[in-house]
Amino acid sequence: MHEYGDCSFCGGEVKENKVELDYRYKGKLFIFQNVPAGVCQQCGEKNLTAKVAKEIEHRIQTNEKWDKTISVPVDVLPGEMAV
Ligand SMILES: [Zn+2]
Repeated sequence: MHEYGDCSFCGGEVKENKVELDYRYKGKLFIFQNVPAGVCQQCGEKNLTAKVAKEIEHRIQTNEKWDKTISVPVDVLPGEMAV
């Protein structure tokens, strides 16, 4: 099991978990499930190892058959909306 160390954002404890990860590449959104990642128990930040990040990029570039494709609703908020 990979040692992730403390969260680089908040210093919280990071534990390995299988997560769902959304990843944007060349304007497209990809979702990967069952991804091993270090998840901060405090803020929820996900940390990928270099090996996993590389595997995901490789899959995006070479996958010809995806397990499934979903449609994602998109809404653009009006520009004058108060923050
Ligand atoms: Zn954190």
